[in-house]
Amino acid sequence: MRPLRVMALGLALFPIACGDPAAPVVEPGGIALVGGQLIDGTGSEPVADSVVVIRDGRIASAGSRAETPVPAGAEVIDVAGKTLMPGLVNLHVHYRGDAENIARLFRTQLYYGVTTGRSIGSDSPEAVAFLLEANAGRPGFPRAYTAGLGFSHPNGFNAAGRNAPVTEEEGRELVRQQVALGVHFIKMWVTEMSEPGLQITPEMRTAIIDEAITNGAVPVAHIDGEAEARQLMEAGLRDFLHTTVLTFGPGGGAPVEDPTPSPEFLQMALDHNVAFTPTLSIVQNGWHFAEHPELLDDPALRAAFNPDALARWDDPATREAVVEAPDFEDRKAAFRQMQDFVKTIHDAGIQVALGNDAGTANVPFGWGMHHEMEMYVEAGLTPMQAIVAATATGAAQMPPVGQADFGTLEAGKVADLVVLNADPLADIRNTLEIDQVMRLGEWVARVLP
Ligand SMILES: [Zn+2]
Repeated sequence: MRPLRVMALGLALFPIACGDPAAPVVEPGGIALVGGQLIDGTGSEPVADSVVVIRDGRIASAGSRAETPVPAGAEVIDVAGKTLMPGLVNLHVHYRGDAENIARLFRTQLYYGVTTGRSIGSDSPEAVAFLLEANAGRPGFPRAYTAGLGFSHPNGFNAAGRNAPVTEEEGRELVRQQVALGVHFIKMWVTEMSEPGLQITPEMRTAIIDEAITNGAVPVAHIDGEAEARQLMEAGLRDFLHTTVLTFGPGGGAPVEDPTPSPEFLQMALDHNVAFTPTLSIVQNGWHFAEHPELLDDPALRAAFNPDALARWDDPATREAVVEAPDFEDRKAAFRQMQDFVKTIHDAGIQVALGNDAGTANVPFGWGMHHEMEMYVEAGLTPMQAIVAATATGAAQMPPVGQADFGTLEAGKVADLVVLNADPLADIRNTLEIDQVMRLGEWVARVLP
């Protein structure tokens, strides 16, 4: 699509014709997507018959056909009957392997309209360097953010191959090393898991948060309890992954006795303007394909899936073992509590973003983002609210926090967008009915990896 940009720039050199002096000057050229339903990601009402003009990689204008002129010389694309929404923003992914493998995951993401990903705690220095290239806007790549290697207790959750400092001074030094690589975030796993006493200590958390903020990185934590979340908020952290009712037992989870967040906790989260990325897929995908093996007939999903995990779910014996396990109903009850948590904090006005732990075995890149949105709607959010969570709210968490120039389809924002063949407001699963994906104002060549 590069020639289109050249054409737009060429036309921009032509003198602008003088008509009605009161009319706004419309720069000629660009791409005009005309006649589609516009969901701009801000949560405002959809615009039924819209015009979205794209020029030089950004949205030049967007709105109703009546109020949004099509520039002279623009390439007009009829999108009547289709829906436009911002490119999706996944706040919780784990890219793995070398640059070649990450590039393959990038292609999967873009195929499914996920134009931004935040890799949160498993990146080697080499992976960080590659992700920073994508962050800078390399054509054909999604936008990527990274937390480098995360932090855990020396014998705690996910400590192997991570930063696992023993002293606070060591913790601070390791944060500075990550920041020197150029990471955007500093990630901590603050989780009890099955063994008590192996949780990263409150003093260490405070040191890591302080050092991250001092050095211009954004701290973010994996949590599973309210007490930890309160302490982290007091120490200055504003970005949480998972929920306060996350439990991992030997079988993968059991309901907790009192799952409802306390009113004090909700108020504290509001006062501190925190965001949650509850990450439902990592739990529910532990059985979803056992209950719905027909999903595995979809060649695109198969291509997105981790091959080893796909082979397991293809095996009827695996599926049967999962749904007939004695703790299966407990796992589902625990998951229902997590969905209730999403609905409760969203209704309380707390920022809820979307991220799914893509890159873990059972959570496919790309496809998994749409499935996470579907689970938000099952939790009680409207399709529009799920889309806002998956676009603008996620974008707002990226540094500089609250100042994203992407994530919505508004004038001036980066032209990362998805054209859908069906209306996601009628059924959120229609976000999978993708016609085209645009990244940085250029159509993505959608190829399965
Ligand atoms: Zn994760």
